[in-house]
Amino acid sequence: MTDAAVVGTGPNGLAAAVVLARAGLRVSLWEQADTVGGGLRTRSLFDRDVRHDVCSAIHPMAAASAFFREFDLPARGVRLLQPEIPYAHPLPDGPAAAAWRSLDRTAEHLGVDGPRWAKLMGPLVARSAAVVDLLLADQRSLPRDLAAPALLAPRVLAHATTRSPLRTEAARALLTGVAAHAVGRLPSVASTVVALLLGHTAHSTGWPVPEGGSGRIADALLADVLAHGGTVHTGHRVRDLAELADAPIVLLDVGPKEFLAIAGDRLPPRYRRALRRYRYGPGAAKADFLVDGPIPWRDPVLGAAGTVHLGGTRADIIRAENATVAGVPVDEPFALVVDPAVTDPSRAAGGRRPVWAYAHVPNGDRRDPVDLLRRLIERYAPGFSDTVIEARGIAAADYEAYNPNYVGGDIGGGALTLRQALARPTARRDPYATPLPGVYLCSSATPPGPSVHGMCGHLAARSALRRHGIRSTPDLSPRPARSTLDRA
Ligand SMILES: Cc1cc2nc3c(=O)[nH]c(=O)nc-3n(C[C@H](O)[C@H](O)[C@H](O)COP(=O)(O)OP(=O)(O)OC[C@H]3O[C@@H](n4cnc5c(N)ncnc54)[C@H](O)[C@@H]3O)c2cc1C
Repeated sequence: MTDAAVVGTGPNGLAAAVVLARAGLRVSLWEQADTVGGGLRTRSLFDRDVRHDVCSAIHPMAAASAFFREFDLPARGVRLLQPEIPYAHPLPDGPAAAAWRSLDRTAEHLGVDGPRWAKLMGPLVARSAAVVDLLLADQRSLPRDLAAPALLAPRVLAHATTRSPLRTEAARALLTGVAAHAVGRLPSVASTVVALLLGHTAHSTGWPVPEGGSGRIADALLADVLAHGGTVHTGHRVRDLAELADAPIVLLDVGPKEFLAIAGDRLPPRYRRALRRYRYGPGAAKADFLVDGPIPWRDPVLGAAGTVHLGGTRADIIRAENATVAGVPVDEPFALVVDPAVTDPSRAAGGRRPVWAYAHVPNGDRRDPVDLLRRLIERYAPGFSDTVIEARGIAAADYEAYNPNYVGGDIGGGALTLRQALARPTARRDPYATPLPGVYLCSSATPPGPSVHGMCGHLAARSALRRHGIRSTPDLSPRPARSTLDRA
């Protein structure tokens, strides 16, 4: 017997399962892949002792979100290791720009733009939890702390324009590189919100890597579900909701395209049409390299950075991102590079280490990105190619076969336009509930959207519990849970 079935075991499916199991429900998890984790898988690719993050590698949102604050990864043995420099950005002419954990040090490094950077980020850092809670929410409820919208609104308006208030190329490129995490049109309101969210956490809760790789987060979530009576079925793709007819509550960690396929004709035509209007954004094309030493960055600052953004100047990034959104491939796309052993030495073994890199490309792009990413890194790290022992590429088009949620390689589960940031996946009052009784969506195609924060799952599970008459809020802390069943 199952009280709740959860389809898909990405961070949101697992977070939903934790909440439901902690509420005393018998939860079954269903996953099409052979292992749980979705965007949280770490595995050996070339060398048994060197493990690569297949999808996510860096976890600013897992360090900051309300779900993970309460779940408390460190108390469960998942060490979140912090790089001294969360992110850095080489420039074609001149030294690299960098964001340190320390806001003061960053301001000092940015010279004449230092005071502007401090003024932009400082107040957000001071109210970091409120800012994070405002943005990682269902986008329907009123904020509890009105200081956060008051701080964000003027900053977003000032920076979501073509004329940057920052003066130096270093500061402009640094901020635009974080904005590019939105994988959409630049400049825009949505990408500026992403820049401020991610940008300020570099100076507050940080951009950590879990020791041993992202899979450790999935392991901790799954362990909690199992400890609270859950069961897991891997290697089973749910193709029809009828397979879950026994479960009064079904949570789907899937996107609109997969939901349309498995719900079939059960959905009312109007809702079906709304889901079909949902738009996917550009794709990610990723390369995993096995290398025999640290990346030989020309500027040593980059060697201390957890994440390196490649894309040139602010103008270069804007041009490349906008072309990519329009479906036009570019020679120098925006790319992210992570050498996890910089932050977590346990990731290197026998002098070998993984390098993780992906570029933004048009949705559905079929090109193998290994040579492209090798060239982009080589430009700022001459000799990188000589360190590469083996490499494998995943074209954007191939990500969907790996995970049906990444349609055309869109790893955000849907374009992060202003409209889709607010009405994700449709403009319903409760974005998690669907017209089908007992069936809820909980993937990153619901608010607050992409990243490993668990909030879509957390909020969807809370919505399901409320609608099924369970009013108490389950305790998610590492303490053994009491049964909190409290049916109204
Ligand atoms: C290359 C790459 C790099 C990334 N880097 C980062 C990063 O550094 N930091 C960060 O925070 N985020 C990163 N992300 C994004 C992050 O991984 C996602 O936002 C996050 O995993 C979304 O979580 P989710 O639970 O909604 O879905 P997913 O993690 O996509 O999980 C969905 C799961 O559902 C399963 N599934 C789908 N349909 C079915 C079905 N019908 N039946 C059974 N199972 C099904 C899938 O196999 C998958 O396991 C990255 C993603 C990729 C791909």
